[in-house]
Formats: sequence, C-alpha cells, structure tokens
Amino acid sequence: MSADIDCVVVGAGVIGLAIARELALTGRDVLVIEAEGQIGTATSSRNSEVIHAGLYYPKESAKAQLCVSGREALYYYCDAYGVPYKKTGKLIVATHHAQLEALQALYRKALANGVTDIQHLSAQEAMALEPELKCEAALLSPSTGIIDSHALMLSLQGQAEQAGSQFVFRTPLNKAEYTDSIFHLKFGGADPMSLTARCVVNAAGLAAPHIASLFPWHAESPRPVAYYCKGHYFALAGRSPFSHLIYPMPDEAGLGVHLTLDMGGQARFGPDTEWVESINYDIDPTRVERFYQAVRQYWPNLSDDSLAPAYTGIRPKIVGPSEPPADFLIAGPSWHGVPGLVHLLGIESPGLTACLAIAQRCRLALEHLD
Ligand SMILES: Cc1cc2nc3c(=O)[nH]c(=O)nc-3n(C[C@H](O)[C@H](O)[C@H](O)COP(=O)(O)OP(=O)(O)OC[C@H]3O[C@@H](n4cnc5c(N)ncnc54)[C@H](O)[C@@H]3O)c2cc1C
Repeated sequence: MSADIDCVVVGAGVIGLAIARELALTGRDVLVIEAEGQIGTATSSRNSEVIHAGLYYPKESAKAQLCVSGREALYYYCDAYGVPYKKTGKLIVATHHAQLEALQALYRKALANGVTDIQHLSAQEAMALEPELKCEAALLSPSTGIIDSHALMLSLQGQAEQAGSQFVFRTPLNKAEYTDSIFHLKFGGADPMSLTARCVVNAAGLAAPHIASLFPWHAESPRPVAYYCKGHYFALAGRSPFSHLIYPMPDEAGLGVHLTLDMGGQARFGPDTEWVESINYDIDPTRVERFYQAVRQYWPNLSDDSLAPAYTGIRPKIVGPSEPPADFLIAGPSWHGVPGLVHLLGIESPGLTACLAIAQRCRLALEHLD
C-alpha cells in the first residue's frame, strides 16, 4: 500500500519548521500540520530569544552538543538569509562570595563543552564593561547573542515551502495507527481529515508527550510524561543601561531571572519558575516583587515601578521538580521500534539555538543513521 504523503511533521514551532526545511531540502515530500492558526504561537514565541553559547549542559549531552553546533549553524544561517541577530555577549555573575566556586565550575563546564572563548572576569573587569552591575566575579561569553525568533521562523517556513513543503493550519492531530509500515493519521479542527504517511515527526512541543502516547513505545522503557514549568517576564520601562545580557547563576529549573534584550534594545527580565498543572499563559502581576528582589542582586539601582508585566512561557519538561534535569530526547526507532517515527521530547532551552542541529539529527534518526 502506498501512503498519501512521505512525511508529516506535527507542529509548526521553530523545531517543526527547521525539521520541515531540513527534510524538504533533502528531497522529501513534507506536510506540516499545525493545531493553531499560524506558525510559532506557543513556546517558540514565548522565550528569551537568546542564542546560547552552550555553557550550562553536562558534557556530551545532546543539549551541549546540539547547542554548540546549532549556535554556529544558526549564526551562519542568519548571515546567509538575513535574519536579524546581535552578538551582544553575556555576563554570568556571581553576586555572593558563596557562588564563586560554582562560577568556576561553570567555567570548566563551558571549556569541556567546547565553548573556548569563555573568559573569567574580576568584579572590577565586569563592572568596567557594565558600570551599573554589582558582582563578585563574572564569566564573559562573547558568542552569546539575541535573535528575532519570529523572523527566523518565517525564514524557515519560506525555505521549507520553496523546497516543496505544504502547511495546514487549525488541524490538530488526534489519532494515529501504524499498520503495514504506514501511519494512518486523523486530524480534528473545523475540517476534520485523515491521511496516510510513511514518516511522522512529532514536534508538538508541550503536547509532544501526549502525541507520543498515540504511537507504540517499547514496553521496557517508561513513556515520557509532560511536566510544565511556567516562567514570567517583566519589561523594563525606558532604555537598558546594559549592553550585554546579564545572567545570575542558574538554579535547578532554569537559568535564573536574567536580563535579555530584544533587537530594538528593550530590556526584559525573566523567566522565573513555577511548576503548573496545565497550559495557561496568564500573567500574575504580583510576582513582580520577587523580580525586583532577584534583579537587585546584580543591579541594585533598579528603580521602583520600572517593571511592567510582559508575557509568560512554559518549559516543556519531561521530568518533574524533584528529579535531575533531563536531556533533549530525540526518540527515533531505538525507543519505540517503529521505523520512520521520531518524537522530539523535552525540547526546552536551548531548543531555539539548537533548532538547525536538532533538525539534522532528526533527519539522521529518520534515516536510521543515528
Ligand atoms: C521561558 C522559556 C525561555 C526560553 N528561552 C530560550 C532562549 O533564550 N534560547 C533558546 O535557545 N531556547 C529558549 N527556550 C526554548 C525554546 O523556546 C524551545 O526549545 C522551542 O521554542 C521549542 O520549539 P518547538 O517547536 O518544539 O515547540 P512550540 O513552539 O511549542 O511548537 C509546537 C507546536 O506544535 C503545535 N501542536 C501541539 N499539539 C498539536 C497537535 N495535536 N497537532 C498539531 N500541532 C500541534 C503547537 O500549536 C505549536 O505550534 C525557552 C523556553 C522557554 C519556555
């Protein structure tokens, strides 16, 4: 039996878009199916828009490898296709003497991950770069930057379409069956439809564990479960006195309430961490007090009433709050025994940075070369 289509990509966030482009450029026939009315309305437009260097992740983890290679690929892509970005550099600051050892450990981790341009700065050196900063010591990461994530997604969509991919919106995948080496897929929305495909890529972000549950999975390995960790952002009124991104030391669930900049130079602070049961992007303005407290650890001159609620995002976690952090899980046939099926699970930060490298790895997994 032949299928209607070669490859269905579920989800048009930055990961689904990068994968659609990658597969289409290698000559595959790709259909991207998106539940919402347009691309990138979920996590891909609710993040810090930082191109990470790759400092934080355990050596040889998928996060470390795909962040370092993805960052270089992304800068190259932005230059080649005119996606706006700025290599602002970033300072990671120890604000208390007790954090100096952890800062040193982060420096060693960065070197182990191949981030060789990382520099150790004394408090005086850091404050010479950023006079408003207060710290005990800092690391300078010159290869960290910011990107216009929406321009990136539009560019990826454009290239995928040019290479022959098609997009269908407001069409959530609801059901799936796998028989005779073919996927039988059922979609809801205003115009429910069914189709068959040879390959399926699950890039559904926060819904990826649920989508994975529609397909077979090896009995011996536990099925991934979705956990949601929400983060708020508050925007700074007026211009930022900082030209670098400023990050505190990371905590268990995230990278700490940091200062990031958008392409217009507007500063925002976030994300904090709040484990939640369901997907809800409402902003709780009362959290601002904790933001003043956190930011004043490294910027004591932050004035009262200068922060305004901006937006929230939700980290697509696959482990809960009491477990060690999980790596990206790019689950090809070795996880579920089904050729032509890849699930992208737990693609939290640095997924935006790593999107092109993740797309390449996904293609290899589909081709059984992983
Ligand atoms: C607070 C926060 C800050 C972050 N900051 C950074 C950063 O600075 N730098 C960085 O590199 N990374 C960052 N990240 C990570 C990055 O944003 C994500 O890794 C990336 O956006 C994930 O993209 P995605 O395409 O997997 O998911 P999404 O953008 O969520 O896309 C998934 C898509 O699937 C669709 N979908 C869901 N269910 C279905 C269905 N049944 N059928 C069809 N479609 C469906 C959704 O509508 C959605 O459009 C951050 C993440 C968070 C939460």
